[in-house]
Formats: sequence, C-alpha cells, structure tokens
Amino acid sequence: MAAFIDKARITVKAGNGGNGVVAFHREKYVAAGGPDGGDGGRGGSIILQVDDNLSTLMDFRYKRKYVAPNGMDGQGGRKSGKDGADLIIRVPRGTLVRDAESGEIIQDMSGDEPFTLCRGGRGGWGNLHFATPTRQVPRFAKAGLPGESHDVILELKLLADVGLIGFPNVGKSTLLSVVSKAQPKIANYHFTTLYPNLGVVWVDEGVSFVMADIPGIIEGASEGAGLGHDFLRHIDRCRLLVHVVDAAGSEGRDPVADFDAINEELRQYSPELARRPQIVAANKVDILEDPAQLERLRAHVEAAGCALLPISAAAHQGTRELVGKIAQLLSTLPPVAVYEPEYVAKPAAVDTSAPLDIRREDDGTWIVEGAWLQRLMGNINFSDYESRMYFDKTLRKSGLFQQLEELGIQDGDTVSIYDFEFEYQR
Ligand code: GDP
Ligand code: MG
Repeated sequence: MAAFIDKARITVKAGNGGNGVVAFHREKYVAAGGPDGGDGGRGGSIILQVDDNLSTLMDFRYKRKYVAPNGMDGQGGRKSGKDGADLIIRVPRGTLVRDAESGEIIQDMSGDEPFTLCRGGRGGWGNLHFATPTRQVPRFAKAGLPGESHDVILELKLLADVGLIGFPNVGKSTLLSVVSKAQPKIANYHFTTLYPNLGVVWVDEGVSFVMADIPGIIEGASEGAGLGHDFLRHIDRCRLLVHVVDAAGSEGRDPVADFDAINEELRQYSPELARRPQIVAANKVDILEDPAQLERLRAHVEAAGCALLPISAAAHQGTRELVGKIAQLLSTLPPVAVYEPEYVAKPAAVDTSAPLDIRREDDGTWIVEGAWLQRLMGNINFSDYESRMYFDKTLRKSGLFQQLEELGIQDGDTVSIYDFEFEYQR
C-alpha cells in the first residue's frame, strides 16, 4: 500500500523574459527606416490552484522541479516575442506552502483563488520602445529579466470540521463509512488506515460537515514511538474532535484507561488541540456485556467535561443521534482555521562587487548592464515604493553613480538600465 504523502519539497522557477531586439524598418527604395525591433515576451509565472480531485501530495514525490517556459525574443517588424505560458500546479485543498529555508507560511491553499508563487521575468524592450523625438536611431535593445525562483515545502493539512480520534480497531473507519459516503478500509487489524479518509456527512438540506478518519494514535506516539505524530498534524484544523472508544472493551481493553491515554497523547502533542471540544462516541454497545461498564465510562467522561453518546457503528445504532449532536455543536463553533501568511519576500542580498558594463550610445544615453544588475531588476517591482527604495540603495552602495560621475555624466543625461530609464540628477 502506498504511503500517504503529506509533505513535499519542490523547486519552482518562473520563465525568464525574452530579449528585446534591435531592428530597423526596411523597404525597397527607402534608405533608412525607423526602429522597429519588438519587445521580448514575458516569462511564464508559476501559479498554484486547488484541485478537489487531489487528496494527497503524491505527485510531488516523483516530480520535484517545476519550470515555466521563457518568453520569446522580440523580432523586427514591430513583432513582440510570445509570452511564456503560465505553469499551473494543482494541489489538494488545504495545502500549506512554506518557504523551505525559514519554514514560514507563504500561502494557505484553502480557497479557490489561484496564487502566483513566482512571477515570470519581464521582457526586454526592443529598440522601437526607445525611439523618442531626440533619439531617432536607437541602436540598442534590452535583455529580458530573470523569472523568480523559490524552494518551497508543501504540507497538507486537511480541512475537516471533525476529526475522529481513538485507539486502533475501536471503529473509527466503520463510523465514517456509516455516516458518510466515504468508503474507508475496514479490517480488524491495527493500522489499516494509513492515510486519512475524508467524508462529507449530510445532516439536513444545506447542512453538512466534513469528517476525517485519522489513523490511530498509539501510546508513546508523542515521543515519536509510532505512526501517530505525522498523522496528528491533520487534525490541527478540526473544529471538533469525536473520540471513539470501544465501550465493550472487546479487545480486553479498559475503555476508561483508553480515553485517558488518548487525551494524554493529545496534550503531549499539542495542548491547544487537547482543549478542542470533544464528544465521546462509546462504540460497540451491541456487544456490551455489562451495562455498568458503560455507566462507569460515562461518569468518567462527563467528569472530564465531555458529552457521551452510546453507539454501535456496525449496527447503525445511535449514529443519527451522534450526527445530530455533532451538527448542533458545530453550529456554535468558529469556522475551520485558515493560516495567515508569515513569509515576507526579502530581496536576496546581491553581491554588487562585480564590475558593471557601462557604455554610451550615439544619442548620449548611458547604458548599464551586468549579471547582478539583471538579477536585481528581476526582483524589483517599480510600482512598489519599498522596492524602488531598495533598488536605489543597492545602486548607491554598488558605486555605480560614482563611476558614472568619473565617466563624465551630466545632470539631465538619460541612464538606461534594462527596462528602466531615468534622468540623472546628482
Ligand atoms: P478503526 O481502526 O478504529 O478504524 O476500526 P475499524 O472501523 O476498522 O473497526 C475495527 C473492527 O471493529 C472491525 O472488525 C469492525 O467490524 C468492528 N466494529 C466496528 N464498529 C463496531 C460495532 O459497533 N460493533 C461491533 N461489534 N464491532 C464493530
Ligand atoms: Mg480505521
């Protein structure tokens, strides 16, 4: 049986922008036409989208690198290069996207809105773009900018309203299959449920909830002894826990001790989770030999502040009442938690020590190029003030302006850096 893949590390890269081109209009008998070199196309972006047909991150185990296509270079005759197509990566609902380095949450893919994880690089401008009344023969064009790239961790946190907890074999899968349309594997040996099963429980017209069958927690799991912990992650978001106990003690277990052991396990894992509202489903009452045993469990559970409902999942006894009670409680509880983004993109520190290539065009424009500058430009969003300030600071620190001064730049000269042009002012 395939293991449930609930965590994956992938590398994504948006496409680079295509290069602009230098070209001049040519026509028979026309000596010198105007500039007509087109712009490069934009690189494809990396976009995440929820797909409800997916329930695991299995696909990401086999494919770890995702690269969107580059934009095409521009052409003569005013032709822009084609944009690279966006690459859409489909993920199961409830996937958290984290920065691989810091672990911070970039986005919670719980909603239906597509999310742009990496922006494609802007295309470089063709010389057509640089034609002005005073610059009629621009003999330069610009290179495209690199697309963003990112190492991220995808982590699946189910979006279930209700999480089933309890020891193996107490009847969790049976209960889920009885109250919902899910068809979990049911067998009388331990750890049959190696991945969480989700089921939608229909209560009434317009009233339903999602229930998740979480594989059994075993004693000692909080110290890493068993399967428990990886799976416990999935109940993080649940609004309500249904604690299934084998009230008949059919495997020679003590229901009261079981109840305490699971709750202790929860507390060890997450005190916050242990405080989540809990209903106890006292299962297997069809084979209960001694009614006093049920009453002993009831007294213990109620003393702990939880309601107890006797059921037999296998015999469909008391399950309607249980569903009704769950629905009623859910209507008083806040909705499933959505995680707030924590990650703030910090511009990567660029090493500005490599020399830049500075040259002067016929029309007096100063052209500045260089590998680190191109990378820097790819990360700058010129419509954002902070981003522009960072750009300015980095250029100052690099000594570029000093260099330009030494080469004789004057106030009012045009400086052209990839797809950005400005008038020099001291
Ligand atoms: P899980 O490990 O908690 O998911 O337990 P399962 O749902 O796989 O059930 C374990 C075993 O208990 C199976 O053999 C079920 O048929 C049996 N079982 C589940 N519910 C009941 C019940 O209400 N009464 C009886 N007698 N057996 C049950
Ligand atoms: Mg099961």
